[in-house]
Amino acid sequence: MIKVMIFIDGSWLYRSTPALGARNGRPDYRIDYGKLPKVLAGEVAKAVGLPVLDVDVVRTTLFASKPVNFQLKDEDLVAKQTSFFNMLAEDYHYETEIYDINFRGGRVKPEFGKDEAFRPTEKCVDVALASSMLYFAAIPYSYDIALTVIGDRDYLPALRMVRRLGRRVAIATVDDNCAREYKDPVDRQGLRDFDVIFLGNLLDELELVYEPQWQKCESDLHEGESLVLDSYRPRKGERFFCDVCRRKFREQKDLAMEEAGLYEGSYPVSPDADANGDMNADPGLGREDDDAQPMGQIYSGVVKHLVEGKTYGFLAAEDGEDYFFHATDLARPLVWNDMRIGMRLDFDVKKRPSEDRAGAAFNLRLHGSM
Ligand SMILES: [Zn+2]
Repeated sequence: MIKVMIFIDGSWLYRSTPALGARNGRPDYRIDYGKLPKVLAGEVAKAVGLPVLDVDVVRTTLFASKPVNFQLKDEDLVAKQTSFFNMLAEDYHYETEIYDINFRGGRVKPEFGKDEAFRPTEKCVDVALASSMLYFAAIPYSYDIALTVIGDRDYLPALRMVRRLGRRVAIATVDDNCAREYKDPVDRQGLRDFDVIFLGNLLDELELVYEPQWQKCESDLHEGESLVLDSYRPRKGERFFCDVCRRKFREQKDLAMEEAGLYEGSYPVSPDADANGDMNADPGLGREDDDAQPMGQIYSGVVKHLVEGKTYGFLAAEDGEDYFFHATDLARPLVWNDMRIGMRLDFDVKKRPSEDRAGAAFNLRLHGSM
């Protein structure tokens, strides 16, 4: 039996997937992360000349980052990312190591034609992967082969060290998106013990195939038959909304949040977000967050106003401030139709109030229910 530990640079793999698809004439190509460890273990088995059953994947860890303090226009995007990381852990038993990137109120996705004054750089991901790989290499019987899914040159020294500790290294990468040294046929740098595994040769085995299913749209705004054919699979505890309702919600929310001034002003600061100090960035940018309270604090308040004919309203919180909320911010089992003036709710804050502007709440639930 051979023990394999898989180390995935998730940020790199995410960035490289469009190129992987495009190069092979499959522009919408998506990787099935559920299949990835098994398929890669199969390749290692072939390389060492053992049956697949003799290759034991003891752990798969994905290293990546997630935005914090971002412009709320991008909240759906970030929520999607979070739900992806949760899926890896819940459904496929990945370990995930996710590091905060502080966007200081900026857009995660730059707007077309607009120059971003401040683009935060990713921190920690490569060092975390390299540290983890070396740490386990130094622990007896933890793994025989480090199977890395990487492309950046930064890993060169770590790979050499892992081999010096007597472990074997396999590299899986994307042909157009990897350091030259990795695919050097002679391996002059001494980085690996096997032929490079090119994901481009495994496209069919790794493809994420969506099979649309009949699902019930849970939106109060839904018109017509509530069963719709959709390939989106909601996470455990997440509500399913059809495409049409999702778009309706977003438009409504954008309008309401624009009106409430929620796309301006200060953002909550997570305690870790600034700890890694963005040395290169202008310290003056987006720094209205000094009075912000740490995220994770639970707030409480009563429903103060429900906008007629719409699905959003405002809470008067115990801290004396008003908070905007939308139907999509309600946690199960609350639904929009449950909302009554004077109802007491607990919530989390995604944006702090500023001067005359309300804040923004999410994860609303009945007071004391969680
Ligand atoms: Zn719907």
